[in-house]
Amino acid sequence: MTLLNYKPIALCCLCLIALPLDAQTRPRPVTLVAVGDILLADSVGRMIRKKGADFPFARMKSTLQNADITFGNLECCVSKRGAPIEKRFTFRADPGLVGVLKRSGFTIVSLANNHTWDYGRNALEDTVQSVRESGIKTVGAGRNRTEAHRLVIIEKNGMKIGFLAYLGLIPALISESETEPTLSMASEKAITAEVSRARKQVDFLLVSLHAGQEMAQRSTPRQRGFAHAAIDAGADMVIGHHPHVMQLPETYHGKQIFYSLGNFVFSSEGRGSGSFLKATLYPGGKLIARQTKLDLSGGQPHFSSSLSSLLSSKPIRGRHRKERAAKRNRKPVGRTPQE
Ligand SMILES: [Zn+2]
Repeated sequence: MTLLNYKPIALCCLCLIALPLDAQTRPRPVTLVAVGDILLADSVGRMIRKKGADFPFARMKSTLQNADITFGNLECCVSKRGAPIEKRFTFRADPGLVGVLKRSGFTIVSLANNHTWDYGRNALEDTVQSVRESGIKTVGAGRNRTEAHRLVIIEKNGMKIGFLAYLGLIPALISESETEPTLSMASEKAITAEVSRARKQVDFLLVSLHAGQEMAQRSTPRQRGFAHAAIDAGADMVIGHHPHVMQLPETYHGKQIFYSLGNFVFSSEGRGSGSFLKATLYPGGKLIARQTKLDLSGGQPHFSSSLSSLLSSKPIRGRHRKERAAKRNRKPVGRTPQE
């Protein structure tokens, strides 16, 4: 072997020596992307029949695929079974469509919302199964209450990232059951107990919360009660959805609460407003997150070219001071109507 053969090996060794030792061994942070409500039925279903299942996700696909973990709220059931329950809007998507979520980069979806039960418990069970079979983890629903409330852990870069999901709307149209498919319903008691328990098992704990008033720009006392309970019990961040528009985030005891990411793929006309959350989770516990507004026009979410679209997640400390004082006196929180 001539000296020339040794050259690449020697260069490699030199590169390693040039890097500081901690940079060679330091674990990589985990990147997380989260979006709000996703519907594969109704007007989105009709759009998909015309333009293909990948069309609504096409302009965000590389962003969704490039994160270590990509989260969304799937707000419909995916089944061929069941009949619509008695309510204003009921959404059921063809099971053949669920693969688009995997192709678009999703790794975990919450099913704890007010539409996965639209066609009854069997259709809810089918939804959990279809999504899992597509290779995506589900949180917030299951074959029984225990499964619906179960902590879901994703391991990346040597860290454990935990997810819990809750539906915080009342009146609850589905009752929790230990023997039938069900959703994870929110109560401050359940959130406090489950978050405290989960906290010990993971490096980061993220709580998905489907709650609030539709089309309202501000969070409700009930929403804030659940989110504060999650942070008080040890959650690192709350990822909210349901209002179909973005809501102001809050920094509470140093942790970020994103009350509503708004819509992602929810109507072919791009109704409501939506945003994209990017978070970096560093070894040691530091979490940095930023919410950015999306342009939903054409039913195809994408980054807006307008600078005004940037929604800063500036802390709004002290904004709810009065509320916290009221909470100490255990005043009941407001009721939220739902579809
Ligand atoms: Zn909803």
